[in-house]
Order: sequence, then structure tokens, then C-alpha cells
Amino acid sequence: MIQYSQSLEELDWIPRPKLTALRRLEIGTVEDLLTHYPRRYEDRTHFAPFPREESDTPLLVCGEVVKTRLVRFGGWKKIFEATLEEADSNALSQPLVLRWFNLHYVQKMIATGQRLVVFGKPRLRKNRMCMEHPEFEVIENDDEISVHFRRITPIYPATEGLSQRVFRGLIFRALENLDADSVPTLLPKSVKLGSREHALHEIHFPTTTAQWDEAREHLVFSEFFAMQMLIGSRRNEAVLRPGQRHAGAGALLEKFLRALPFDLTAAQERVIEELRRDLASPHPMNRLLQGDVGSGKTVVAIAAILLAVESGSQAALMAPTQILAEQHYAVLCRWLEPLGVRVALRTAARQEETALFFAQADAPQIIVGTHALLYENSGITNLGLAVIDEQHKFGVAQRARLREHGLAPDVLVMTATPIPRTLTMTVYGDLDVSVIDEMPADRGKIITAVRAREKLPEVLIFIRKELEAGRQAYVVYPLIDESEKLEAKAAATEFEEWRERLRPFRCELLHGRIPAPEKQAIMERFRRGETSVLISTTVIEVGVDVANATLMLIENAERFGLAQLHQLRGRIGRGTHKSYCILMSDEKAEETVAKLGVLEKTIDGFKVAEADWEMRGPGDLLGTAQSGLPALKLGNLIKDADLMRQARAAATGILAVDPHLESRENQRFRELIVEQHGRTFSNVS
Ligand code: ADP
Ligand code: MG
Repeated sequence: MIQYSQSLEELDWIPRPKLTALRRLEIGTVEDLLTHYPRRYEDRTHFAPFPREESDTPLLVCGEVVKTRLVRFGGWKKIFEATLEEADSNALSQPLVLRWFNLHYVQKMIATGQRLVVFGKPRLRKNRMCMEHPEFEVIENDDEISVHFRRITPIYPATEGLSQRVFRGLIFRALENLDADSVPTLLPKSVKLGSREHALHEIHFPTTTAQWDEAREHLVFSEFFAMQMLIGSRRNEAVLRPGQRHAGAGALLEKFLRALPFDLTAAQERVIEELRRDLASPHPMNRLLQGDVGSGKTVVAIAAILLAVESGSQAALMAPTQILAEQHYAVLCRWLEPLGVRVALRTAARQEETALFFAQADAPQIIVGTHALLYENSGITNLGLAVIDEQHKFGVAQRARLREHGLAPDVLVMTATPIPRTLTMTVYGDLDVSVIDEMPADRGKIITAVRAREKLPEVLIFIRKELEAGRQAYVVYPLIDESEKLEAKAAATEFEEWRERLRPFRCELLHGRIPAPEKQAIMERFRRGETSVLISTTVIEVGVDVANATLMLIENAERFGLAQLHQLRGRIGRGTHKSYCILMSDEKAEETVAKLGVLEKTIDGFKVAEADWEMRGPGDLLGTAQSGLPALKLGNLIKDADLMRQARAAATGILAVDPHLESRENQRFRELIVEQHGRTFSNVS
């Protein structure tokens, strides 16, 4: 009998070199091994007869290698061929030829006389039935057949130094000898999904699809439940932690709102109230503000900032890029200096000036900067509110870093990317969410059109007409190359071409490699209308706000993702004039056409995001967001959203009644989830 928590080193049937390979995968215990879940399964319940015709469904066949040969062609290229014969072959049987191109290791693995199981699509090649690059396994003895074949067989993530069958063999043996009582089932009593031990058997070696479904549900639920218990108990701690109130009476905010040249939308007003409540409560605020590009998040942020300032604390506004930080700074100065509020800009480029500023005057009440503000010793001593703009990726890890620097401010994260609820209640450590779901009324429409390159002359005529009417334009092109030299060169070439095309209108070039002060001057000239056209990389992607810019042309639009195109497009349509977004693309691929079509159809960011997820999954959104957290082993935040909700309800229910998990029934959760996992999940808060 082996124990679930036992170290693999104690199991003498595991060859030592395999242990080393397992350790590289961070598999050290029986539990680690058994939670290394299959990537997919193959139905190997039956071997198919040898194929007589081509087929697009892959087949599983078993046979004996009767011949191998190496064919050379085109100089250095090689094809390795192995001919397979069916076990009870007769005169009418047709052999199957397995072919691999340029794969040396296959040649070393296969020899005449071996029995092979192969999985692939049969193809007819010069009258011979072939399989090209089939998956295969060599059968060494008949015992093994029962582990690896005649069943729904697990296929594990490919790993170095451990073949499929070694992995499968180890897991099979571990499960056979596992002491069922040593496997704790960590589910709330109300959830009836069997024992974890049974679920582990079924997830690796399923007996039926239904059993497998249930096993997966058990394991995903456990995974989510553990996460939610951990988040929940951390949150309990946070709520109990004495925080501070950061809301003044609101006189300053009133003054600010009265001076605004427009009325707030109802959505903006609602969100400001939500923020006011959070700031006024002694518990640390942890809120995400979602609002489509152009919905007016900045004003809302300023409102919160003013409440904090009036309460006597400092506030920080952080942007992802220097350009955006500069812009925020300009806006804040314009709006707040008349109110007598001290605003400072802290970016690498402005170090000197701010140093001066700090020396001469009183400490600033508002500090504007890039996210770097968080990580350096910024000299902020009395931070009551941190607003983080355009950064949905500001997850638990980053907040932990704030605390590391001795700061525990109220935190407001703003983003134009709608984030599914499953994410906000997990990787973001259970943020509260506010949504601005209404655009300011006076917005001009944005019309989006996809155009092929050959239409450029007509497009140019159109652009000129807009420019002549006094409007401004952005031309955006994708980064050609990451490397500094090439990028600068590509940018320069593009720029020259566009300047020619749009003569005599004044164009300027903006890209990431231009030194910061220069960048700022370029933006400033564009803002003042001295420049008509900005030829730019995606440095203008977020936040840049120039109301008179009504036209955007995006080159090679197919190279951008949907979310990014939507962000870019958000740079126009910010004033009362009608705006136009032209997506230049010659790509005819169906996916691309569909992708760009989404933008032609809607300007609603939530719809764009939905389409994006449908088309390519939540990809980057999840990938980066999860940094600082252990990856989920089995659960999928999108697909299993419903299970996540249930797990959360269960965890919240338990913690509401027994916040310290002291009852007999709940103690095991504390030991096995909160205390044990707490170490690995240390960034969750
Ligand atoms: P985003 O939500 O994309 O950050 P901004 O805060 O930059 O949007 O706002 C876009 C523009 O709309 C700014 O010029 C801002 O001054 C203006 N704006 C904000 N709220 C309103 C409103 N209620 N009515 C009219 N214009 C507004
Ligand atoms: Mg913004």
C-alpha cells in the first residue's frame, strides 16, 4: 500500500533516473503524480482491422514490424519507413507502411520483429496504404497491453525524459497500490461527487464517459473550492484588518464637478457613489472599474482621488505608458490646479523636475506616474488611494507588492477590457466590480470599414477630405520586428511614404524607440493641432485622448487582435464629429475576415470581447493575469464558470458560519487547504 502524501523516492519500483525526470516536472509525491492529469484520451478499446482505404478519422491498429528502410531524397532529407503486418495476416491482407520524415529518433526506436500500436490517418501513397507521422507505442510484453491498450487510454502532456508509456505505467501502478483511506476528499458535505480516490482512478483510466465526466467534475470542483476557501479566508482577514477611511466630506469634489464642461452620465454618477462608499468604509477598497474606451473613466477616477485628497491623504494615478501618464498629468493640472490641488508627475524622464518640486513646495497631493511608481521607492508616505489605469493585469501579485512597500491604500483598477466574473473572483482575489455601461451622449459615431490595399487611392482622397475639414488622423502600423534597429527602420520607411501621400499636411512619427521627452513634445503638437497626422505604432493604443482626431487608418489590420483593434479605435470618436476607422487588410483567410467583420458590425467593447473569446479563447487575458498564481491543473475558468460559482457559494457559506474554520467538520479544510496550500498560493489575497 502506498500513501497519497508519500514521497516517490520511497517507492523502490520507480527507477532512479525516472525520479530525476519527475523531479524536473516538480513531481515529488504520489499526490503530485496522480494530479498530473492526462492531456487527452485515445479510445483504444478495440484495434481496428488494417485499413483498405483512406480515412480522415484516425485509426488505431496493432501489428508486427516486418521491414524497415531509410529512403534519402533531395540531398539531406530522409524518410524512415516501417512496414507493419496484421497479426493473423493472410494472402489477402495488405500491409501498412508507416512513414516519418526527418525524425532520427523514430528510426532508433523501431526494429523488425517488434509489435507496434499505431494511431493515425490512413493515406494511399503510390498504391500503398500508409500512415504519415502516426503516434506509436512499442509493445514490450503482454502485461502491458492491459495498461496501455484495450481501454480509453490517457495521453499525458509531452515531457522530456519520460515517455507516454512510462508515465502511464507509473500512474497505473500507483493507483493500483494506493491506500484509498490516505486520499482526503476535500469537498463540502453538501456536494455529492464521490470520493477523490475514485475520481483519480477515473480521470486517468476511465471506465465510461459518464464516470469520467463525474470524476472531472469532482476534481475541478475540489480545485476551485480550495481556491475559493483560500481567497475567502484571506478576505476575511483583510476585512478584519483595520483599514482607514479615505473620504472627505466632498466639497472639493463638488467644486470639481461644477467646473466640468459637461454633465456626468448616470453611469458615472452611480460609480462615483460606489467609490465614495468604499472610500468611506474602514475596509481596504479593492475595486475594478470596467468601462468601454471613451466611456469617461478618468473623470470618475479624479472624483475618487479628490475624495481621498480631501480626507488628507495622498493619491496616486498610474498609467501603463509614459505618454498616458503625461496626458493624465496635463488633464489633472488643467482641472485641478484652479482648485488649488498640488499635482506632481513622476516618470523616469521627469525625475529632476519632480525632485525640485518636492524640495520647493509642500508634498504633492496627487502623484501621477507609470506603474513603475509601485516598484521604486517613490517617497510616497501617506498613500490613501492608488488608481491603476488600463491595467486589468494588475492582479494579486501586484497588490501584494504594494503592501511589501508598506503601503495599504484603497485600490481602484480601471480597464476597458471586460473581464469575466470567474476571473475577478479568482485570480484577481475577488475584486468588487463597477461598470460604466453608458457612453457620454454627445459622441459622434464611429464608422468602421475594412478595405483592401488596392483601394488605397480612394482611401487617401477620403482622408484628405477629413484633413481639409480641419480634422486630424492617426495612421497605425504593426510592429514589423521587435529589434530596435529594424523597428526604427521600418517606422522611418512607413513615415516617408505616408508623408509623401498626405503632402502638404503635416505628419509626425511616433514609436516606442523615440526618447520620452521627444515623444511628449510630438503628442503635445498633435494635441494642439499643429500636426495633422500621427504615423504611429501601437504606443497610442491606450488612453490617448484627442477629440479632434476623427480618422484612424490601421495598416495590416489582420496582424492585430480584436481587443487591440478595439482599443486602437477607441482613440477616435472622442468628440462630437463623426469618426472613421479604416482597417487595411488584404488577408482573405476566413478567420481574419470574420475577425475584422466583428469591428465593422459593432462598436460595443463588450460585444467585441465576447467575439474575441469565442474565436480564440481568453488566451492572454488569462495567461498573464495568472502570473503569481499556481496554474489551474484541470479546471477551466471559462468552461467551468458554473462550477466556480458553486464552489464559491459553498466556500462563502462555510466561512460565513465558521470564519476561522474551527468546527470539527471544517478543521480539515483549514489544515489541508488554508495552511498547506496557503504557502503555494501565497499571492492570493
Ligand atoms: P476612457 O474611459 O477611455 O479612459 P476618458 O476618461 O479618456 O475615457 O474620456 C474620454 C473623453 O470623454 C474625455 O475627453 C473626457 O473629458 C470626456 N468625457 C468624460 N465624461 C464625459 C461626459 N459625461 N460627457 C461628455 N464628455 C465626457
Ligand atoms: Mg482612459
